[in-house]
Amino acid sequence: MTLGHQSGTDKPKDECGVFGIYAPGTNVARLTYYGLYALQHRGQESAGIAVADGDRIQLSKAMGLVPEVFSADTIDNLSGDLAIGHVRYSTTGSSSPLNAQPLVFRYTGGQLGLAHNGNLTNVTELRSQLLSTGSIFQSSTDSEVVVNLIARYSQSTLEEAVMKTMIDIKGAYSLVLLTEDKLIAVRDPYGFRPLCIGSLGNGYVVASESCALDTVGAKFLRDVEPGEIVTIDSTGLKSAHVLPAKCRAHCIFEYIYVARPDSTIDNYNVNRVRRKLGHQLAAEFPVDADLVIPVPDSGTASARGYAEATGIPFEEGLMKNRYIGRTFIQPSQDMRDLAVRLKLNPVREVLEGKRVVMVDDSIVRGTTSGKLVAMLHDCGVKEVHMCLSSPPVIRSCYYGIDTSDEKELIAANMQLDEIRQSIGADSLHYLSLEGLLDIFDDYRDNFCTACFSGIYPVEVVKPKDTGKYSLE
Ligand code: AMP
Repeated sequence: MTLGHQSGTDKPKDECGVFGIYAPGTNVARLTYYGLYALQHRGQESAGIAVADGDRIQLSKAMGLVPEVFSADTIDNLSGDLAIGHVRYSTTGSSSPLNAQPLVFRYTGGQLGLAHNGNLTNVTELRSQLLSTGSIFQSSTDSEVVVNLIARYSQSTLEEAVMKTMIDIKGAYSLVLLTEDKLIAVRDPYGFRPLCIGSLGNGYVVASESCALDTVGAKFLRDVEPGEIVTIDSTGLKSAHVLPAKCRAHCIFEYIYVARPDSTIDNYNVNRVRRKLGHQLAAEFPVDADLVIPVPDSGTASARGYAEATGIPFEEGLMKNRYIGRTFIQPSQDMRDLAVRLKLNPVREVLEGKRVVMVDDSIVRGTTSGKLVAMLHDCGVKEVHMCLSSPPVIRSCYYGIDTSDEKELIAANMQLDEIRQSIGADSLHYLSLEGLLDIFDDYRDNFCTACFSGIYPVEVVKPKDTGKYSLE
């Protein structure tokens, strides 16, 4: 990932998807293409595929969506037995082809490709150390720092170099690495970002989410464990555990917003979790209303859950334009307003004269919900009760989720009733953090909830003068 710029502060701005495959006898480039297509929701800014054929690594990457980046010819020209792929997302204007992944480098061991999802929290310090001892960098990515460190440790085997690198780097990382004849998958000791393994014939597939395994016909085997290095080559699959985690800290926001509902992450299916969040929301805030409508798609499963639990009819009151991506470059407020209208349109015939519960997954700045409430009122909706399947987002994420700077987070700056007034809703209900964690029963202590609780598993210090973050 990279350091983006927003509101004058340096802040991580990427969510990404990674994919890796070892499957001799198949078209690995094509399967990676399909795998990335399944992970497109994790990143729409750039896409890339690197393929290894035993002798060399070939790379194709560019800015754009997966089907825009690769033509059939490009894919067919990438031949080999192994591949890795990456989709990258950034909401800022700082997007650059240089930051597209996979990164492919030459080092003493040969060629090395890397695709990274997550965000390192001690990258500034590591980069300065590397620069002071002669390293050069071509991008601002923390992923390049990882490759540099691996290259520095390359007197030993690649696995040992990766292990040594894992001791140096801090923060969130799910990595796939590629050599001419080997695939390596790594998950940080806290397990912040997801990563899972599947089997495909005699080969293996690794991916950010299980939906990508399903898409390429791979059979889900298991999640990569926090702190685990999985090596896959012609001798099979090997696993090594490097750093014992102090605790697990899976990102809870993956379940709320980021991941696809058909994915199962760390044994919890995303759709099931979201449905239960709806049940929980109904138990905490049973509203007297005529209809439950979701903000599609991220609010849909929870809205269904809310309707199931309350018995209030579920309706598709907002129609989503399927051809608008998940996000949008939104340089001005005008553009943001337009973006919401382009994306979602209310169905007047369903909504007019009704008391409506509108369910969304989260409020970040309040732009979307404010616009949607106004649109519903314009359609003659009598009452709008806004229900969120997450607690208020009060803190920024430094582990790979794009949440706004704290100054822009509406819940960091306003009380509940002020937020309600600002979005124009008749009532406003956020799921409690306890209610969210209850979904996970005995596993409840294994999540990072920093954006809701302010408790950061890997400590982040933000000096007041620069606004830049660093690790203590
Ligand atoms: P906002 O309009 O800033 O309040 O953003 C809230 C909307 O953005 C909700 O509909 C969410 O589904 C969606 N959302 C939540 N988190 C993110 C994120 N990290 N990146 C992009 N969109 C998000």
